[in-house]
Amino acid sequence: MRRITLIKGDGIGPEVVKATVKVVEAAGAQIKWEEVDAGESAINEYGTVLPQTVIDSIKKNKIALKGPVGTPIGDGFRSVSVSLRKKLNLYANLRPIKSLPGVKSMYKNIDIVVVRENTEGLYSGIEHEVVPGVVESLKIITEKASTKIAKFAFQYAQKKNRKKISAIHKANIMKLSDGLFLQCARKVAQDYPKIQYNELIVDNTCMQLILNPHQFDVLLLENLYGDIVSDLCAGLIGGLGVAPGANIGDDYAIFEAIHGSAPDIAGKNLANPIALIRSSVLMLEHLGENEVAARITQAVHKVLEKGDTLTSDIGGHGKTTEITQEIIENL
Ligand code: ATP
Repeated sequence: MRRITLIKGDGIGPEVVKATVKVVEAAGAQIKWEEVDAGESAINEYGTVLPQTVIDSIKKNKIALKGPVGTPIGDGFRSVSVSLRKKLNLYANLRPIKSLPGVKSMYKNIDIVVVRENTEGLYSGIEHEVVPGVVESLKIITEKASTKIAKFAFQYAQKKNRKKISAIHKANIMKLSDGLFLQCARKVAQDYPKIQYNELIVDNTCMQLILNPHQFDVLLLENLYGDIVSDLCAGLIGGLGVAPGANIGDDYAIFEAIHGSAPDIAGKNLANPIALIRSSVLMLEHLGENEVAARITQAVHKVLEKGDTLTSDIGGHGKTTEITQEIIENL
C-alpha cells in the first residue's frame, strides 16, 4: 500500500476530493490516504491556513493529492498553494491541455502542455508600501530557478516525445527579468538540438492561442504568465472543470486541479470532479501505476462521450455524485 497525503480543501474541494478518492479506489490503486487539513477549514483548529502537520505529512509521504484551498483575502494569510510550492520547492507546475471527447470546445485535437515556473516571479509575494498611496511588488527572477524550469521542460519534452518548446515572455519591456528567463531557456535549449525552440511575447501568445492553437506544443513560462495562460488554455478544451495539474519538485509532488475553490457552487453537488480525477491520473502515472491510470482515463472518456451525466460547466445537468458513479461503473 502506498501512503499518500490527502488535502480536502475548501469550497468545492471536499466534493471533488471525495469523488476522486472513490474513483481511484474503484480503479484498483493500492493507496492508503493520510488526511490533513489546510486552508480556511484549518483556521479554527490550528489558527493558521497551513499547519505544520500538512508539511510533515507531505515530507513523509512524498506525494499529495490536493483539493482547492481558499485563502481569506486581506487577513494576512499567505496563499496555501503558493506557500506549499515554496516550502517544498515544487518548482515545476505541469498543466497538460488535451481535447476531450464529448466536451464542446472551440477547437478539436488540442494537445498543449503548459510548464510554469512555480516558486518566484511576481508570486514571490514581496510587497510593501513605499509611502502611503504607493506600493511596490517585486518580481524575482533567478538564473537558478529559470534554468531548473527550462531543464524540466526540455527533459519532459524529450521523455514524452514532444517536438517543440515555446518560451513565453515580455522581455521587450522587462528586459532584465524576462531577459534572464530567456537567456537560461536558450542555454538549456542548446543541449536539446532535436527539440525545436522558439520565443513568443505573452500578449501575442494569447492571441495566437485563440487564432491558431495547433501551432503550440510545450509552453515554458514564468509564474504569472503561466497562471494566466494556463487558464486560457483550459478554456480551449472546455474550461476549468476538466483541466488537471501537478506541482513537481525533486523530492515531492502535489497533484491538484487548475481550478480554485469555486465558492459560488460549493456544497451544491454541481462541481465537475473530472479536473481532479485527471490530476489523480497524473499522480498514478508519476507513481508508475500506468495501468490503473489508463483505466480511469478510458472510463472518463466513455462517460464524456455518452454525455448523460455531464455537469453544467460542460453543458449538462448532471450532479457531481452522478458523473462520479457513472465513471466508476465504466472502469
Ligand atoms: P483561484 O483564484 O483560486 O484560481 P478563482 O476565483 O479564479 O480561483 P475558480 O474557483 O477556479 O476561480 O473558479 C472560477 C469559476 O469557474 C467558478 O466560479 C466556477 O463557477 C467555475 N468552476 C471552477 N472549477 C469548477 C469545477 N470543478 N466545476 C464546475 N465549475 C467550476
